Amino acid sequence: MVTASDGSTANSFNPKVPRTSEIDLSSLIAAVPDYPKPGILFKDITPLLANGDALTLAIDLLADFFRVTESDAIAGIEARGFILGAAVASALGIGFIPLRKPGKSPRPVHTVRYALEYGEDELQVHRHLLEPGMRIGIIDDVLATGGTAAASIELIEKAQANPVGFACLLELGALGGRERLARRDANMPIHALIVQ
Ligand code: AMP
Repeated sequence: MVTASDGSTANSFNPKVPRTSEIDLSSLIAAVPDYPKPGILFKDITPLLANGDALTLAIDLLADFFRVTESDAIAGIEARGFILGAAVASALGIGFIPLRKPGKSPRPVHTVRYALEYGEDELQVHRHLLEPGMRIGIIDDVLATGGTAAASIELIEKAQANPVGFACLLELGALGGRERLARRDANMPIHALIVQ
């Protein structure tokens, strides 16, 4: 919060900063049918990212969540988790750790292989970025079936670090990701800014 010399705050004197209730984040997520393949309703978050007020609000709300979880660093899942995760880490004054797709990390890595709807994928993290006991908050853009989020948690655990929470912009409630993560660890805090 910025405080002016007269003691007022940024929100009280800048009419361009809307109150939270004036921004409908969900209206800034577009649904794209049949992308990247028939039958998938892709959720495009780029309109939200391109709106300065919405982006600021989303980062503030995600940072609030990870402040409560007392994270030492934020891990973001490639690629859209990088955009949100780095901004949240910066807002909290802590570091950012990229969780990457295979073939992108030049130094020794921890690797987790996980099942997709069709086939398999991997997530990797540079070993030197994680120390045992570090409290790590994890961010992605969308929580769908929860397979990617579960793999990211497993990856942090492989390094003997401590995943302390998972947050995303959008949870697709019907796909059961939250329940999948809860079955893994009922105490893991999970937070979505929007549930559809
Ligand atoms: P899941 O592992 O099923 O929870 O899928 C989550 C990951 O896949 C996230 O990294 C998302 O970016 C991406 N994803 C899954 N479903 C969608 C969707 N309908 N729209 C956009 N991204 C999605």
